Amino acid sequence: MLSRPYDVTVLGAKTGENVTKTVKKWMAGFCAGLFLAWWCCLPRDLFPGVRYCTVVESAEGELLGARIASDGQWRFPPADTAAVPLRYATALVQFEDRAFWWHPGVNPLALLRAVRDNARSGHVVSGGSTLTMQVIRLSRQKERTLWQKVIEAIQATRLEFRYSKAEILALYAAHAPYGGNVVGLEAAAWRYFGRPASELSWAEAATLAVLPNAPSTLHLSRGRESLLEKRNRLLKRLLEHGDIGLETYEAALEEPLPDAPLPLPQLAPHYVAHCPDGMRTRTTLRYSLQKAVREVTNRRSDDLAKEDVADLAALVIDNASGEVIAYVGNASAGRERPGSQVDIAAAPRSTGSILKPFLYAAALEEGIILPRTLLPDIPVNLGGFAPQNFDRQFYGAVPAAEALARSLNVPAVFLLRQYGVAKFHALLQEAGLTTLTADADHYGLSLILGGGEGRLDEITRAYSRFCQTASLPVWYTLEALKEVNRPDELDWRLIRSVRKAAWKTGTSYGFRDAWAVGMTPRYTIGVWAGNADGHGVPGLTGARTAGPVLFDILNLLPPEDEWFSEPDTGVWAQVCVQSGMLAGPDCPESETILIPAAGLESEACPYHRDGDFVLPPAMEWFYKPHHPEYTGTRKSHTEQAVEFIYPASGTTLSLPRQLDGTVEGVVFRAAHHRPDATLWWHLDQTYVGETRFLHQLRLAPEPGRHSLTVVDQDGNTASISFEVK
Ligand SMILES: [Zn+2]
Repeated sequence: MLSRPYDVTVLGAKTGENVTKTVKKWMAGFCAGLFLAWWCCLPRDLFPGVRYCTVVESAEGELLGARIASDGQWRFPPADTAAVPLRYATALVQFEDRAFWWHPGVNPLALLRAVRDNARSGHVVSGGSTLTMQVIRLSRQKERTLWQKVIEAIQATRLEFRYSKAEILALYAAHAPYGGNVVGLEAAAWRYFGRPASELSWAEAATLAVLPNAPSTLHLSRGRESLLEKRNRLLKRLLEHGDIGLETYEAALEEPLPDAPLPLPQLAPHYVAHCPDGMRTRTTLRYSLQKAVREVTNRRSDDLAKEDVADLAALVIDNASGEVIAYVGNASAGRERPGSQVDIAAAPRSTGSILKPFLYAAALEEGIILPRTLLPDIPVNLGGFAPQNFDRQFYGAVPAAEALARSLNVPAVFLLRQYGVAKFHALLQEAGLTTLTADADHYGLSLILGGGEGRLDEITRAYSRFCQTASLPVWYTLEALKEVNRPDELDWRLIRSVRKAAWKTGTSYGFRDAWAVGMTPRYTIGVWAGNADGHGVPGLTGARTAGPVLFDILNLLPPEDEWFSEPDTGVWAQVCVQSGMLAGPDCPESETILIPAAGLESEACPYHRDGDFVLPPAMEWFYKPHHPEYTGTRKSHTEQAVEFIYPASGTTLSLPRQLDGTVEGVVFRAAHHRPDATLWWHLDQTYVGETRFLHQLRLAPEPGRHSLTVVDQDGNTASISFEVK
């Protein structure tokens, strides 16, 4: 046993201890530094600046369409659920990195094997890279040197620390190249097999597992044999490993390789065009409905094209959620022709009569009319605006609900004048119509007849919200629109079955726009047909052209048992059956109906005197031919017996001139309640003529102010003043 001096031992021990401590400190510092370097070696964003294509999905997550990324690549943006489909994951791990699920990012055994293989053959035959290392390589895009491989290996261990194995697999699948401009599994599955990655067969999954291995040499057009051989070898391995059974294996071998890349689905091209660039958008469109509506509209559009109607748009809204569940911006998009890219559902077009229901409901709400108040339907000239009905006839007086259902123009203009253009303009803007940008004065009374423009998408939305408003005026409006006076021009035999719907049509001036909007308690459907370039087509009408498409779409929707329920708001009132107005003491027949509270302030029936129903002469003149039962007996001469039909008093007329400069004159019209009355006409107190039966007289007064008076044999008179420019 050796004895050492105590202090030396102590000294020596002390010195040794200090050195060890210092070394330990240095070592610890070094390790900490190393750890820190390792910890920070991986950038936060692995794929900065990567551009994705625009992907648009249905409400269920089905692909509706996609736009190529700005760098010309088909690279799908990451999905919320990044899970890589099982078949592909199994095939990929089996092919690329069998130890993937347990190694820490690098696989030393594989690396050693690679070194050995490469040394034996004298060149690089195997990389020995794990899938994790390949994710790093995809993110760095550096050349493949040994030094880079070392960095990849270090970063791979760090990546394993940051992400789960499933996430790493998803990163690989999202960024792997699949040849040409196809990047990522999802894009590859669509481009090569026309289906989502989750629906790939074993053979397809195996093809996509081997493809990124050398996308430049393995190619669908070049090197097909080599690709097929690799795929089949992988399938064999999957069989041996027990991933697939013998039957699946044999069937998979029979599957051919894909041919040329397939186009991506185009189920809602115009909707896709509105979706944000480079992102994945989950829309509210319902996949199968969208497909069906597209088929129906394409078929109808093919027929319409033969009639020179090139463009057709349609959309369906779920009333409860307000979501657009089907959207066809232009049904003819599949046909190669200029203009098919125009999303006509979002284009401002003349509204025709399509806005009339909003006015009817608003006028009811304010008590301006009751549901069946008689509205005048006679020729008028309101500051140069002389509305005409579609059939160019006048009916004298028409109940408001019927005027709405038959879409008569003149009563609508009278109603708008009473309601106020500015107020209606504001109401439409509030309803979401962004296209009425000019002042109310700019449109004037023509606003109700298509003087303004509207977009199909906005109008359909407005209708959807409208029919969800549980109010009495809305209910009456829907009831009026349900009474589908079936327009004669629509051949109902062409429609398979007619479901119950409240619907309104519209036709713009010059047969340029055909509208139809239909509502059921659950859905609102909007249809527009016409030509995007604006040219009119004789025979293009809302009912005939857009109507059948509307009912085709209605038939695609699930049937509904319920109808809109009548609100119990409102007040009960006695209403004259003939005039639809509040019943007066002379009204022989009245009924009790629910009316909006404001309706109590509305006018009482002025047409009943001592039990007789008597209309003012102008209304009477046009009413009589359509109502043989009308007698209009008058018992008192104090009532108005004669009235001017045209022009209205206070009108300014400009008389048309012929080519030789002579003035053509204008036809003045009056009506008398007795068919055999004689009228004597006086222009500025000068006798100018006499009429019997048909009271119209052509006159050509000089420019300036004038008065015109007619007198009958009983001394009844009517006068107007007017100005000639
Ligand atoms: Zn009455």
